[in-house]
Amino acid sequence: MPHLTEQKVTVSHLKRKAYCYVRQSTIKQVFENTESTKRQYALRERAIALGWPLTQIVTIDQDLGETATSVADREGFQKLMAEVSLGRVGLVMGLEVSRLARNNADWARLLEICAITDTLILDEEGVYNPTDFNDRLLLNMKGTFSEVELHVLRSRLRGGILSKAKRGELKTRLPTGFVYDHNDKIIIDPDKQVQQSIRLFFDIFQRTGAAFATVKAFAKDDVKFPCRIHLGPDKGKLKWQRLTSSRARVILKNPRYAGVFYYGRQRSRKNVDGSTTYFQVSRDEWLVLIKDIHPGYITWEQYEENLRRMRQNAVAYNVIDRKTPPREGPCLLQGLAICGKCGQRMTIRYKYQHQGRLDPVYLCQRHRIERWESSCQYIPGATIDEAISKLLLESVTPLTLEVALQVQKELENRFNEADKLRKQQVERAEYEANLARRRFMKVDPDNRLVADTLEAEWNVKLRDLQDANDYYETHRHRESEKLKQEQQKEILKLAKDFPRLWNNPKTPAREKKRMIRFLIEDVTMTRGKDILLCVRFKGGATKTMSLPLPLKGWQHNVTDPEIVEIVDELTTSHTYSEIATILNERGYKSGQGHRFDRDLVKGITHSNKLKTRFARLRATGKLSANEVASLLGVTVATVRRRGKTSSIKTYPYNDRNGCLYEHPGVNFNLNEQQSLTIR
Ligand SMILES: [Zn+2]
Repeated sequence: MPHLTEQKVTVSHLKRKAYCYVRQSTIKQVFENTESTKRQYALRERAIALGWPLTQIVTIDQDLGETATSVADREGFQKLMAEVSLGRVGLVMGLEVSRLARNNADWARLLEICAITDTLILDEEGVYNPTDFNDRLLLNMKGTFSEVELHVLRSRLRGGILSKAKRGELKTRLPTGFVYDHNDKIIIDPDKQVQQSIRLFFDIFQRTGAAFATVKAFAKDDVKFPCRIHLGPDKGKLKWQRLTSSRARVILKNPRYAGVFYYGRQRSRKNVDGSTTYFQVSRDEWLVLIKDIHPGYITWEQYEENLRRMRQNAVAYNVIDRKTPPREGPCLLQGLAICGKCGQRMTIRYKYQHQGRLDPVYLCQRHRIERWESSCQYIPGATIDEAISKLLLESVTPLTLEVALQVQKELENRFNEADKLRKQQVERAEYEANLARRRFMKVDPDNRLVADTLEAEWNVKLRDLQDANDYYETHRHRESEKLKQEQQKEILKLAKDFPRLWNNPKTPAREKKRMIRFLIEDVTMTRGKDILLCVRFKGGATKTMSLPLPLKGWQHNVTDPEIVEIVDELTTSHTYSEIATILNERGYKSGQGHRFDRDLVKGITHSNKLKTRFARLRATGKLSANEVASLLGVTVATVRRRGKTSSIKTYPYNDRNGCLYEHPGVNFNLNEQQSLTIR
């Protein structure tokens, strides 16, 4: 139907430009598929034949090497769209027109705009006028078929991959420690240093049973771990870096090290915003798992054992990456504590104190776990838990909660009103943008000045719309973290019983922690001269508290300076246990209200840096048994015996018969018998 083609091209079309869109998906295609590129350029000759002067023909080939997942990445296509919608284009050329935009949505949009602006479309098979129903139908069908073709290709490709994977022959990215040889067989990395590092890694894990301990061992000896680079210009090269805990866990979990081929360990899911979430599925859902397909560093049994040990450790170490559900253990703020220095969640350890008490310690140790660097903060938790209990009992009464919930409701109402207003703003911006677009579309394209002004106006409106949308979304998101209705009910119920439940010794720690979760969002802790706590309640209220750092055990015993003075005085003439007895007789009690004993008195002496009895005796010139013996020229045993029979004055300096001796003096007389034996 050649006459028809000519009928379609009118003077108005020829006045405008002809755009030739050239595209190849990948760089490889650009180099290898020169034939089709030639065909695409040949279309220009067709345009000339139809009457377009050469100067009016524009070729867009910016998208060579870009894939067609979305228009956003393809500048050339965007430019084409813009030019078409401005009405500056009389003809769009492309090889197999449907290829102009593989993605069907893009294709449909281009056709729509071509129809509005009366733009013709040309491919090797002919000229189409999108305003004409039959032509539009044909073009739409071509677009659909293109999509079908893509789908079929994709599913064939996937089928091929799957059947290859089922035979264990699929080439996948290998973990460090393995390489493909020239026959595409998997072998252990011939680099001896890599081999040794990985064997050492598994050996240490075998010995210590913990990924963390393995990282620690590597860090302590400053041994670097190999990593093969998979992307970029250095692809295939080795990089030596510090072993991290996450890397260690990845290696331990990778079945490849046991000589196993696996496929389909990970699945993906498309999100509403177009992004993709990847997640791992359990082993029975893996698509392929073939054992002993290539040499490994460990056996399958070892691999399973390693996994088992890692699972055990995860429970034992109580590693908290995010807000965790309450577990056993008395620590109230488990999973709610946040480090005030770096913002990470803090972990909890328990420290056994005497009399079987468990004291919690809050630790920020992400860096320590990950790279064996020093912990960020270490905060003893006993006083913190007490303070939080007190704070809750003071602030949580039915009345305060009722008020809080009312305020909450009020806020929510206000939020809804504000939300409505913001929504209206978005709608108005949308309306104005549409109006600007329509105004622009109606203007005669030859009237440059007006068209340009209207285009600028349209752009401004579009930007306004984007801003309004962004503003709306951020506010909506920020304020939508509101309490749910049933949660509120639960809180009110809790408030009525709260003090009774809280003070009941039978209430298990787990329940207390559950209650805290209803009331407190999180607690930020900073250790400075004091412990600074910032408590964030549910609903937004905050409270800042400062607690003194708890005293160390022995510090409890030195609080009363009067006792220190007495101890100082008594040390001159008494041993520790004698002083303890005297203090108890006089009715004194230690800082913690205990009776004094030898160790307590000793602790007081040390912590107050009092001179010990031994030092005091030495200072007054008292001698040791050895010194007396050498002075008198007798044996040490003799001196000790004489000391017992009181012929040399002795001064006990401890409670285990240790004593010092009076200087015997120059005129010291041993009795005659002794003198004889010496001589
Ligand atoms: Zn920290």
